[in-house]
Amino acid sequence: MINRLRDLSIRRKLIAMLLFTNAVVLALVSAAFVVNEANRFRSEMQTELTALAEIIGNNSSAAVAFNDRQAAGETLAALRAKPYIRTALIVMQDDTVLVRYLAPGSPAHPLPFAVVAGDRVSIDPFRFREALQRSRSPLAVGEDIYGVHRILLDSQQIGTVVLQSDPREFTDRLARFFLLVTGVMLSALLLVYFLATRLQRLISAPITHLAQVIKAVSAEKNYFMRAEKQGNDELGTLIEGFNEMLVQIQRRDQQLEAQRQELEGEVQRRTAQLSAANRELNQTVAELLLSKEAAEAASLAKSQFLANMSHEIRTPMNGVLGMTRVLLESGLAGEQRRFAEAVWNSGESLLSIINDILDFSKIEAGRMELEPAPFDLHDILGGVLEMFAAVAQRKGVDISLHLDPDLPRYVVGDPVRLRQVLVNLLGNAVKFTSRGEVRLTALPLAEQGEGWLKVEVADTGIGIRPEAQAHIFESFSQADYSTTRTFGGTGLGLAISRQLAQLMEGELGLASEYGVGSTFWFSVRLQVLTEVPECLAQQSAPQEGGAKPCFDALVLVAEDNPVNQDVVRHMLGQLSCDVEIVANGELAVAASAEGRYHLVFMDCQMPHMDGFAATRAIRDREESEGRGRLPIVALTANALTGDRELCLAAGMDDYLSKPFDCRQLAEVLLRWIPERAKSCPDSGNPSQPAAAAGQGAEEAEPEQEQSSPHGAPVQGDAPEGDLPVFDRDGLVQRVGDEEFVEMFVEKYLESTDRLMKLLRQAVEAEDYAEVRLQAHSIKGAAASIGAEVMRAVAFRMEQSAQLEPERSGLTELFGALEQALTDFRRVAAPL
Ligand code: ADP
Repeated sequence: MINRLRDLSIRRKLIAMLLFTNAVVLALVSAAFVVNEANRFRSEMQTELTALAEIIGNNSSAAVAFNDRQAAGETLAALRAKPYIRTALIVMQDDTVLVRYLAPGSPAHPLPFAVVAGDRVSIDPFRFREALQRSRSPLAVGEDIYGVHRILLDSQQIGTVVLQSDPREFTDRLARFFLLVTGVMLSALLLVYFLATRLQRLISAPITHLAQVIKAVSAEKNYFMRAEKQGNDELGTLIEGFNEMLVQIQRRDQQLEAQRQELEGEVQRRTAQLSAANRELNQTVAELLLSKEAAEAASLAKSQFLANMSHEIRTPMNGVLGMTRVLLESGLAGEQRRFAEAVWNSGESLLSIINDILDFSKIEAGRMELEPAPFDLHDILGGVLEMFAAVAQRKGVDISLHLDPDLPRYVVGDPVRLRQVLVNLLGNAVKFTSRGEVRLTALPLAEQGEGWLKVEVADTGIGIRPEAQAHIFESFSQADYSTTRTFGGTGLGLAISRQLAQLMEGELGLASEYGVGSTFWFSVRLQVLTEVPECLAQQSAPQEGGAKPCFDALVLVAEDNPVNQDVVRHMLGQLSCDVEIVANGELAVAASAEGRYHLVFMDCQMPHMDGFAATRAIRDREESEGRGRLPIVALTANALTGDRELCLAAGMDDYLSKPFDCRQLAEVLLRWIPERAKSCPDSGNPSQPAAAAGQGAEEAEPEQEQSSPHGAPVQGDAPEGDLPVFDRDGLVQRVGDEEFVEMFVEKYLESTDRLMKLLRQAVEAEDYAEVRLQAHSIKGAAASIGAEVMRAVAFRMEQSAQLEPERSGLTELFGALEQALTDFRRVAAPL
């Protein structure tokens, strides 16, 4: 109920409150009136009854005195004119009723205090008094009303008149009065309602107005609206407060709007600045892009130019080197020789730099392509290690190879490029390590899948500072530019190696601690062969019982040294080749004029015309006559980079360094004239080739001594005492049988005696070019025959003859060479 009231509008609430309050007040007032009126009516009636009783008493005193019932009855009969008198009694002093009057239609004994005994009626005085008392109570609305008067005679009471009135008169009057009061009350309430509906506006109108304004403000967000103040009461204060609040909101809105506009202006200003900066940036980017494209195009053009110029750059370089060599061998002395030697050394360095740059350009120009071939991975790794073994040994650095037992052996990949990476990493490791060890480790990367392998080159060298590690893979970058002064180098090796590793689908990285050492690693993906490929099977076939490679070929050998001539002839004979031998380049050019030969083996250093010049002449002739290309394979006692490059630049196709064995010969023949291969008529004993496939003339080799076929380094600074005076087994293995060993030895001694004489004369005459030439010849023959000590000493003489500070030691070296020859004679030809 209360809740329902709460939800009513203020207007209704006010009306209801006024109505309710007024109704209560009116009801209370009416009730008071009614009660008052009721009392007044009763007392009026009582007074009237009492007066009537007095009259009757006076009129009937004689009748009572004489006990005259009839006269008394007649007096009472006059009451018929008063219909509301229900009963009248004249009671004697002894409480007996003398006479009684009953209004027509009244019950026979209506009086509660009458006592009837036979035909005698009396009253019970006690009950009579009680009834009188009750009727006098103001609340006795429904009680009978009594009028009582004493009958006196001579001031003495002789009886009592009792009149009983019907209360209907009283209740009717009361009901009429009540109706009147109710009517008045209802009219008053109507009036109150009428007034309330008007008066409530005093309170509800401002509130309703305020509510409407609030609603409108919140709906329209119009803070300019104001509620109208209608008075100075609390509602007026409320409206004032509300209006003030609107003013503040409006003011804040205006401030906000001003700030927003300011911000908008600022944003517009900034946007304009940004767009201007953006435009500038775009323009700069476009310009940069153009410059970048131009730079890239220029760089590509440069790389392509360099890649295209590869031959053009190498040829004159080789010309310079070749002519310098000729100059050096022409008997120069003193300052001129020093100058020529400086040219040679600088040329050599330049050539190696050019090679790096050309390789790099080829990669940059996207022209570097892999040439996949099957190869023996173990051989490649072993071969590269051997290549650096001599230098490492000279520096007192241990060098070792660790192959994981699960490392596949026969694989397909680009052996040349793999080797190039290995050579570069191992070369660096040896170069930058002066004590401790260098370890080459190869293991399969099983988690990456079949064919993946990882190669690590760890050294205990100078290490690389952390800040340098990031950029040493950039082209032309070195860890510390002082290393350039100390160790030389172009800073291209690692850049090339990384690109090659990526070309082989792998990557190249390093871990290094400055002053402790470095570990370079690379991964590559190769195709693993489950069976030994035929070409490699031929190479690794066991000596006994294996199919002997034979060739139906006519081969020209240009070689001046009789021992080497014999050895090569014998070996080629083993391979069923027909052999013709000439002793210098001139003769070779002439002999090949007829075009009878399938292949030429060309010694590089020969009198009259060397192998380079002879090859150039043959190539020139082929070009001018439009002939097909005759395969020419260089035979050289050196394994220097320059020589190799010179051979290729001169037009030779392949390269064999002395001492080579029957297998290497067969391999070269298989490579260049595979169509001439045939099965051998008898099962002879071909020698067992030891070289790995892919070690073609194109491979870049560092300037190191070639290892012997048995893996032991045989040249360099190694003390000759460690070397065999005569490696008879090696010779037998190379040439394939023992039968001709004595003959070779004899030939060797014969020709070497002659060469020793020439060498002695040259040493005595201080003709260093001649010393070099003769020492080189002795070295070549010694290599072929397996006179290892002689070979080593001859090599040192050849080297010393080139370097001025060491020339003083030549006489001593010559003595050592003579001693080595005596020892060889003693060991090889004791008879
Ligand atoms: P460089 O031809 O000059 O040797 P590389 O690219 O092969 O060029 O090597 C770059 C540089 O990285 C080297 O100059 C050297 O400073 C550093 N470096 C390479 N390998 C090693 C190593 N094993 N130990 C220490 N420093 C090395």
